[in-house]
Formats: sequence, C-alpha cells, structure tokens
Amino acid sequence: MFSPASHRWTSAALAAAALVLAGPSPSRADSYPRQPGVDVRAYTFHLELQDGTSAISGEADIDVAFTAGGVRQLALDLAGPSPDGKTGMTVSQVTSGGAPLHWAQEGNRLLIDLGAPPAAGDHRLMTVRYAGTPADGLIVGTNRDGDRVFFGDNFPDRARQWLPTIDHPHDKAACEFDVTAPEAYQVVAPGALVETSSLSGGRRLTRYREDVPITTYCMVIGVARFAVETIGQVGGAPVQSWVYASERDPGFADFRVALSPMQLYSWKIGPYAYEKLANVQSKTRYGGMENSSAIFYAERAVTGKGLNRNLFAHEIAHQWFGDSVTESDWDDTWLSEGFATYLTHVYNEFTFGRDTMVRGLRRDRDAIIRYFTTHPHDAVVTPADAALDNILSINSYQKGGWALHMLRRQVGDEAFFKGLSAYYARFRGGNARTGDFRRVMEEVSGQGLQAFFEQWVYTPGQPALRGDWSYADGVLTVRLEQVQAEHVVFTAPLDVAIVTDPAAAPRVETVRLGARTQTFTFHVDRDVHDVTLDPNTWLLADFGPFVRRGR
Ligand SMILES: [Zn+2]
Repeated sequence: MFSPASHRWTSAALAAAALVLAGPSPSRADSYPRQPGVDVRAYTFHLELQDGTSAISGEADIDVAFTAGGVRQLALDLAGPSPDGKTGMTVSQVTSGGAPLHWAQEGNRLLIDLGAPPAAGDHRLMTVRYAGTPADGLIVGTNRDGDRVFFGDNFPDRARQWLPTIDHPHDKAACEFDVTAPEAYQVVAPGALVETSSLSGGRRLTRYREDVPITTYCMVIGVARFAVETIGQVGGAPVQSWVYASERDPGFADFRVALSPMQLYSWKIGPYAYEKLANVQSKTRYGGMENSSAIFYAERAVTGKGLNRNLFAHEIAHQWFGDSVTESDWDDTWLSEGFATYLTHVYNEFTFGRDTMVRGLRRDRDAIIRYFTTHPHDAVVTPADAALDNILSINSYQKGGWALHMLRRQVGDEAFFKGLSAYYARFRGGNARTGDFRRVMEEVSGQGLQAFFEQWVYTPGQPALRGDWSYADGVLTVRLEQVQAEHVVFTAPLDVAIVTDPAAAPRVETVRLGARTQTFTFHVDRDVHDVTLDPNTWLLADFGPFVRRGR
C-alpha cells in the first residue's frame, strides 16, 4: 500500500500521520482469535450489484479443510447488522452439502455449528447466503467524474464488511468472484477472467477465478465503466490498464509505466505469481492498494503527467512480497511494506542510477530519525495494536527498507538478491515470519544473521554519531562517539571517506562501530583536505556534527 491519502506509501503522508499519533502507543500481540484445525482452501463469492441501491446480496461457497479432528464450530468474520439496521450483513441461510446448519451472528462473527465434528483431513463445502449494505469494505458511490462505481477496499481487516471469511492474512485461499451487475459496467477482480455472459434484465455475469492462494485483504472487485488496454506481457501474464472510461487518454498514458517494474522484479526475484496484472484506477482510500493481480490506485493517480513511477514500483513489488509471500502475523508487516519500499529504491537504482536510489534512501533515513523522536519504543517488528493502527508506520515502511539495504551490504549484492529469490521461491503462495526470511538469508549467505536482525529489526532506534578528526605527521585520527540515549551500543561497518585531493575520488576506509567512543587512525601521506562519514549511504544513523579538531 501507499499510505492514507497516499496509502501504503509516501513519506510525507506517513510523517504527518506520525505527528498525529505522537507518543508511544501501548502495544499488544496480534489479537486475532485463530481457530486451530481450520484452513479455508477456496472461496467462491456470488454477488449481485444493482443501480439505485447500495445493498448487495451474496452467496459464499467456502471450502474448509480440517487439519485436526474434533472441531465443532466454525467462526467466520462477517459484519453483522448495525443497531439501526441500515448497514451490515444479515445472514439468511447456511448449508453444507444441501443440508441446513445451525448458525448465529454475534457482532462481527458468524458462528456455524458443524454438527458431527469432521475428522482430521476432511473438508466441507459450506454455503452462506446473506445480504445487506456494506458500511465499509465495498465502496459504492460515484467517482470524481460523477459516474457510479463499486470498489472493494479491504485492508487490513475490512473484507468482513462484505465477505464472510477468515479475515486474517495467515489463512490464504483461492478465490472466485461471480459478479452480476448492470451490463453498462465492466468488472475486474483477482485471477483470470473465466466467463462473461449476458443475462436477462440488462444484467451481465462476470466471473474471475484466482487459483493461487491469496489473502482476504486482497479479495476485491472493481465495477465501473472502464477503458481497458493491454500494454504488454511479462512471463506470459498480460499487463493491463483499467482506467475510468471518462479518463481514457491520460489514464492509459500514466499507467504504461507499469511494465518496467514488472520486468525488473521478474528478472531479479522470480516469475510473477498470477495470471494477469490489472492496474486499476479506483476509489481506494489508499494511494495504492496491492490487491493480488488487480492493484487499485487512487483515482488521483491519473494526472496525465506520468508522476507516479514510485507508486507503481511500490504496488507492483507487493505482488511478490505481501501478496505472494504474505506475513502470517500483523507484527511482521515490514515483510510486505519494507520490501515494497526497498524494491522501489532498487527499481530506481536499476532504472535511473544509484544517485536516484540514494536520494530516496536519505529521505527515508531523515523520516526514520524524526519518527524515532516520537516513537522511541517501536522497532521494525512491533506488536500490532488491537485496532491495527500502528502496522503501517515509518518503521514497517522506511526502516524496514533500510534494514534490507544494510542487509544487502552485510551479505553482498549477489547473496542479497539470491536470498530474495530463494525466500520468494520457498514461500511463494504462502506465509512467512521474519525468522523464515532470516534463515533463508543465512543459508544463502553462509553468515549468521541473528545479531543483525536483533539490532536492526527487533531493537528500536539507530546510532546517533558525533565526532571529529585531526591530521598530523602523516596520521589521520578519527574519533567517534555513539551518543544515543538508550543503553544499546550499535555494531556496524562505517565507511570513512578521506579527501586529500578535492578533484579526485576520496580514499574510502571501512571501520567497525562497536563501542560508545572509538578512535581510528590511518596513515595518510598527504595533507587531508576533508573527512566525511558514510559517503556511499550504507548506514542508518543520526549523523551529527563531525568536524576538524584543532587548527
Ligand atoms: Zn505498500
């Protein structure tokens, strides 16, 4: 995602959000009540949409596998009717194999009595019939051009507002949408288009099937008058632009930038996971939302000026990390957002050169240091709060990205990209935790990385460096001090650039930070003109004054 009003991405928006949320927030572990022994394999959602009402009617076929015996009750997430009865979903029937089951709606849960408990290894097809007006999750309204549109917007846990699901990223499933809507509209959804049929009464049925397991927060539909163009193929998957029909020309022009990040990530990380990629102009609340194979971009992403390269690079990176390899717990959101943030820098590096990447990394580093002043107790992996308000933060985005950048230096370019590929290959279509990623990187690099992850991913903060340098009698002396208030002393490589001739490239030496105060000496046979720290932008640190001493 690019963050709210730019969802799940811009630094500026996140920095603004950080100010509003100032102060350490109480943190808890992921509070989602998991159900042991239950694993949804596939959903088929039959939905009927109409003009003249925001109400929907639906039938969900849910293929549930039982991984343990003795399960008597299945709890699905589904928003119940609101107290005034105006919004929410009302269930009318639950069946399995044609036989009715006992069920009850309690708040945002649908509790289904399974009768005789299934044996381990069994699976059952349950059908839930329901109807109502979504309070959230499915946006029904008009777009900025005044045309009627319907857009799913599920992140992080709003699928339950219109779809009965196990609404948590740990339970991924295949998904089919069978959407009946007025024939003036086109429908886009995850997966492959498998049917379009004209129905009576000016309606059309459109079916999409996604056979690759995806998270519920990516199970969405977009229904509108679209202009649709295929801009190319990557690894056999068509790359399509879906923009409002009223914005066809500027939309098509802007959305053509999607091809190059698709090509880069396919090459550097591994084959694209899905049947197609649709880049869709939408009403998402976020700047962009990375729904699997159907990315929804804010409608203002269409400017006609091609201004949104980073947005496309970010959302498309999520198709690999976040969508195909999904964090199994909200605490590990950086496995999605930090990766998309860093791959956007990598995209800029490969497309425009290292200087462009460095400008982005420095902007991110400044944001991280500012955010730390108001959130000194939060690390990259921080327990999600109950409302999931803290999962999208400078830590999960920018600091997660910086952790990957420093890991790249730690293991080297070759092992880093090999490791990303191996991690993707191993967890493709599934879930992972931070420890899974660490173990893959350790295997590929041959290095123990426990201490690295402990310091940069699980510990709040970064070194605050101050110091000075002096030169006399052929010896350069560099004194450095870590002045951060916490008790943590950071261990990291630091490059020192020694300039003897301003017209020539500096000599770069690498020292190892590892104590509160350290002194390093270098033999230099010419007068030293200047000394700078971290000339190649590899260290996340709050660089304070570093001056020439004496003289
Ligand atoms: Zn994102």
